[in-house]
Amino acid sequence: MYDLIIVGAGVLGTFHAYHAAKAGQRVLLLEKDRYPVGATVRNFGQVVPSGLAGRWFDYGRQSLTIYREIQEETDLTVRQRGTIYVASDADEWQLANELHDHYVRIGYGSELLSKAQCLAKYPTLQPDYVVGGLFFSEEMSVEPELMIHRLIAFVQQKYGVDYRPGSAVVDVQSNAGGATVTLATRQRFEAGRVLICSGHEVKLLFPEVLARAGLVVSKLQMLLAEPVANLSLPGNILTGLSIRRYEAFQECPSYARIQTPEHYAELKKWGIHILFKQAIDGSIIVGDSHEYADATHTEDLGYHTQEAINDLMLAEARRIVTFPLKIRKTWAGFYSQTADEIFEHNIDEYIRIVTGIGGKGMSSGAGFAEYNIRQWLLNGK
Ligand SMILES: Cc1cc2nc3c(=O)[nH]c(=O)nc-3n(C[C@H](O)[C@H](O)[C@H](O)COP(=O)(O)OP(=O)(O)OC[C@H]3O[C@@H](n4cnc5c(N)ncnc54)[C@H](O)[C@@H]3O)c2cc1C
Repeated sequence: MYDLIIVGAGVLGTFHAYHAAKAGQRVLLLEKDRYPVGATVRNFGQVVPSGLAGRWFDYGRQSLTIYREIQEETDLTVRQRGTIYVASDADEWQLANELHDHYVRIGYGSELLSKAQCLAKYPTLQPDYVVGGLFFSEEMSVEPELMIHRLIAFVQQKYGVDYRPGSAVVDVQSNAGGATVTLATRQRFEAGRVLICSGHEVKLLFPEVLARAGLVVSKLQMLLAEPVANLSLPGNILTGLSIRRYEAFQECPSYARIQTPEHYAELKKWGIHILFKQAIDGSIIVGDSHEYADATHTEDLGYHTQEAINDLMLAEARRIVTFPLKIRKTWAGFYSQTADEIFEHNIDEYIRIVTGIGGKGMSSGAGFAEYNIRQWLLNGK
């Protein structure tokens, strides 16, 4: 008998397991695959609260603290090397200045960099691209293909979380005083509460609820470029189209009057903005694009990646940086999102679904999970 069973060992499920077990709860973490291969391992590994708005910024800021605390105990691959948004025209620079003013007002470390300062700090930026930069020194990067496995190992060893990969949950039913979880193998587990963090998988558990949840799935194309001798790209690098896309900039006073320049039209059609993150081995993740489908129709997004989208991303990336981009591999990632920031739904007093965190899970998931465990499981304690 467990206090809490969590379905799904992505970043959301695993951080919920961490916070619950840390608070003394007996936790079972179930993952359908032999190891997680969802959005949590397919992303950039950028922890960038600066791009978030409202409560998600607060969860993101708290996530920085949580990553730092765990990193002090075990190597989660967290590196605090900061985030830069590189503005490429007057409008983007205006938004960067306004967001900087906002963060100065609320006391979140933020620094405006002149063009010369940007080029001194990131010498492989194309000088013609750069107008100025907005830098956040507190922000972090993780290695997405390593972080979740290390976090799972940590919660097992330190907090006794019972982790069972290869456990596809096919049914969750409430009973008197709790809930029963059934695996595809027919094995059953009982707990006081069950939390479902199943990412963009909407067809297995409570499909009728998830079909009505307004969930949309986004397919993102990503590229990995070969290491370049002596290249050092510290931290997270986001660029002009990210400034035009991220929620935090949308809250700025000038956002409503900003027009889209003609040269961005084709990129915007595919939801492209260009981000870079160098991995520990020197390779460079470059992305991304966004295509959308209703969560019940994800087949329509296709199983392929489109070369034309990769070419558009590469052409824009080459307008931004001077180093060679020789592509080693490409992939697609998927996440679900909603117009309401996240989908949080209680089936009843014992079973809760939390999914649809969208593109902000690595940045805000740790802090959000702490809040959710406190409110839902520990009754606000
Ligand atoms: C390409 C890409 C780039 C991104 N970049 C960033 C970034 O740099 N920074 C950032 O903050 N966010 C980023 N994101 C978003 C972030 O990755 C997601 O928000 C986050 O990983 C979602 O986590 P999750 O746990 O909800 O979902 P997932 O990681 O998909 O995990 C869900 C898990 O549930 C399991 N599961 C599902 N159903 C069952 C079942 N019935 N039984 C058992 N297990 C089940 C799945 O196998 C899966 O492992 C990016 C996403 C993508 C795709």
